[in-house]
Amino acid sequence: MHTLSSPLKSILGTNTQHLQLLQSVGVKTVEDFIYYFPRAYTDSSGITPISDAKEGELQTFSGTLSNFFSKKLPGGRQFTKALLTDDTGGIELVWFNQKFIMHQFKSGMHVFVSGKAKLNMRKLGIASPTVEHKREEQLHTGRIVPIYHETEGLNSKWIREKMRPVLNEFLKQIEDYLPEPIREKEKLIPLKEAIEFAHYPHTVEDLEAAKKRLSFDELFLLQLKAIHKKWLWQHSDASKIKKIGINKEYLQEMLGNLPFQLTDAQAKVLTEIIDDLEKDIPMSRLVQGDVGSGKTVIAGLAALSMIKNGHQVAIMAPTEILTKQHYKTLYKFFVQYGINIQQVLGSTPTKQKEEIILQLKTGTCDLVVGTHSLIQEAVGFKKLGLAIIDEQHRFGVKQRDTLKSHGGPHLLSLSATPIPRTLAMTLYGDQDLSVIDELPPGRKPIETHIVPEKKRKDAYNWIREQVQKGRQVFVVCPLIDESDTIEARSVAEAYEELSNHIFPELKVEFLHGKMKQEEKDDIMGRFSNNEIHLLVSTSVIEVGIDVPNATIMIIEGAERFGLSQLHQFRGRVGRSDHQSYCFLFTNKESQTSTKRLSAMVKYHSGFALAEIDLEMRGPGELYGVRQSGIPDLKMASLTDAHTISKARQYAIKLIENDSNLSNFPLLKAKLDKLEAVYIND
Ligand code: ADP
Ligand code: MG
Repeated sequence: MHTLSSPLKSILGTNTQHLQLLQSVGVKTVEDFIYYFPRAYTDSSGITPISDAKEGELQTFSGTLSNFFSKKLPGGRQFTKALLTDDTGGIELVWFNQKFIMHQFKSGMHVFVSGKAKLNMRKLGIASPTVEHKREEQLHTGRIVPIYHETEGLNSKWIREKMRPVLNEFLKQIEDYLPEPIREKEKLIPLKEAIEFAHYPHTVEDLEAAKKRLSFDELFLLQLKAIHKKWLWQHSDASKIKKIGINKEYLQEMLGNLPFQLTDAQAKVLTEIIDDLEKDIPMSRLVQGDVGSGKTVIAGLAALSMIKNGHQVAIMAPTEILTKQHYKTLYKFFVQYGINIQQVLGSTPTKQKEEIILQLKTGTCDLVVGTHSLIQEAVGFKKLGLAIIDEQHRFGVKQRDTLKSHGGPHLLSLSATPIPRTLAMTLYGDQDLSVIDELPPGRKPIETHIVPEKKRKDAYNWIREQVQKGRQVFVVCPLIDESDTIEARSVAEAYEELSNHIFPELKVEFLHGKMKQEEKDDIMGRFSNNEIHLLVSTSVIEVGIDVPNATIMIIEGAERFGLSQLHQFRGRVGRSDHQSYCFLFTNKESQTSTKRLSAMVKYHSGFALAEIDLEMRGPGELYGVRQSGIPDLKMASLTDAHTISKARQYAIKLIENDSNLSNFPLLKAKLDKLEAVYIND
C-alpha cells in the first residue's frame, strides 16, 4: 500500500522529466506533493492593472505578451525578456537561463503573470515572473484558480490535474497533529480540510480559512522547535547548574558608583537578566539595543554580579577593535573592584596567552574579553558562570555552542543591530528577548540630511566650517564590488578627491580592508587623538571605535545601502555633547531610495528603521535567507506579529507542561521531521 511517504514516482503516472522538475523544487514524496501549495490564485478581483504595479509586492497581472528578445550574455547566461501590456500600460518581464520561456510563450498570447516588480534603471520590471496561459475555463468557471510555480517548467494545469486524484486518495492519511484545544481556541479548520482548500478553494472564505490554519501551523512548528531546543539545552546534563542568589545590596552599591542613573529600559533589562541568573537553568537571552543605548554597562553589571558570586565570566566580540574597546571600558569600570580582567586577541603573543589560559584554568582570572580566538584556543575555565557574546549574529551557531560547552554556563547575547521583534522571535526563537529601546537622556538626535549632487559643494563648505570649529568627519564609501581591489580603489579615489581638491588644507586619511592591522590601528589611533580631520573608509571596515569628537558622518552613494546599514554608520557619530550630523550623498533618485533615505531623516530608532526595512524589502532580501536561517515559509508571513506571538505562547505552554510531547505523539513526529530538515541551522 502506498503511504504519504511513498516516492511520487510510484503513484504518479508521469515521465521522468516531470518527476525531475518536481524533485528540483523539493517535491519527492506524496506528502511533499500535497504540501506543494499554489503560490498565487487567480481571481479576477486579484488582478492588478499594470499601471498600479507596486515595487516589491507580489502581484498578478493579466495581459498580452509581445517584444520577445533573447540573447546569450558573456559568461554563458541566457537572457530573455518580453513586454506585458494591458489596457493601462506595459511592464518588462525578464528571465535568466530560462530559454524554454521562448518555446512556451509567443507574442500575442494572453497570459497571467505574477511576480514582484522591481526598479531597474528607473523602470519597473519583473524578474523571473510566473507566467501562465490564460484559458477559457479559468475565466469562466467563476472559481478561484490556483497558480503553481509555472516558470519552473511545471504547468499549473498539469499540477491541478495530478493533484486532484492524489488528494482523493491520500488526504485521508493526513493526521492532524495540532492539539485539539489550540485548534478550537484559535478557530482553525482541520488540517485535511485546510490542505484541500489550499488547492481547490470554492470561495474566498475557504481560502482564507486554509491560509489561516496552514500559516498558524508553520509558525507554531517553528516556535515549538525553538522552544524545544532551548528546553533540551537548558535541561541537558552539561547545563546542570546550582541555584544561586545574587547579592542585591552589592548590585545597588555598584549602581550607586556609576556616574549616571540607568534608563528605565536598562533597569528593566538588568532585572530580567538577574532573574535569569538566579534560576537553576541556564539563561539564554538576547539583548537588543541601538549603539549607545547602554548594553555594555548592563553586561558589565551582570558580569560583576556573577564574579561577586565566585564565578568567572567570558565576553566574546567579533573583531579586535570591538574587543579592545570592551576591554578598555570594562577595565575602567572593574578596576575599582579589584577584579582580574584580561584580554585575548588573535595577536596576543603566545607566552602571554598561555599565562592567561593558566589563570583561567586556576580561576585567578575573573573576567576575560576576547575575539573568537577565545574559543579556538584550548581555553578552559575553572568555573565559568556566564558567557557574553557581543554582536552574536556575527558568530556561527557552532562557535556559540563551543562557548556554551565550557561548562554550560548562562548565555547572554548582545546585538546593536535591532531587528523587528517578530523576526527576532523566529530567527532567535531559542533565546528570550530583552530590548533596550531608549537612549540615555540628553543625547541630541543626529540631524540627518539628504544631499543631492547639486548641493554637494554647499555641504563641503559647511563641513569645512565645522572642522575649523574643531570637529572631525567620517566618510563612508560604498563597496562597489566584492573584490578587495575595487574596494580599495573606491576609497582611494574619494581620498584623492577630498585631500587634493576639496580639502587640501585639512588632514585626510583613509582606511580599507587590504591594509595591515598595524596600519589600521595607527590611523584609528591618530583619528582618536584628533590628528586627522577626515577619515575615508569603506563600508566593510569596522570603525567601531568610539571617537566622540567625530560629529559628522558622510555616506557616499547612500542609495546603495539598506536602512539597517545606514543606521549603523550613523551610530558612529552622536557620542558627545556636540550636535552631530549625517549626510546622505546620493545622485540617484528612485522612488524606493528616496523613501528609504527619507526614513533615515525622519526616524532615529534602529527598531523603527528595521520595521520599515522589513516592510520595504521583505525578510529574505533583508537578512539573506541562506545565512540567517530564515525559514522558507509557504503560507505564513514573518511579519505577522499577532500569529507569531500567539504561536510562541502556545509553544511555551506546551513544552512547560509536557516537555517531551509524550501526550502528543503526532506532533512529536512532525517536529522530529522538521528537525531533520533544518538540521544545519
Ligand atoms: P552600547 O554598548 O549599547 O553601545 P554602552 O554601554 O557602550 O552602549 O554605552 C554608551 C555610552 O553611554 C557609554 O559612554 C556609557 O557610559 C554611557 N551610558 C550608558 N548608560 C547610560 C545612562 N543610563 N545614562 C548616561 N550615560 C549612559
Ligand atoms: Mg557596545
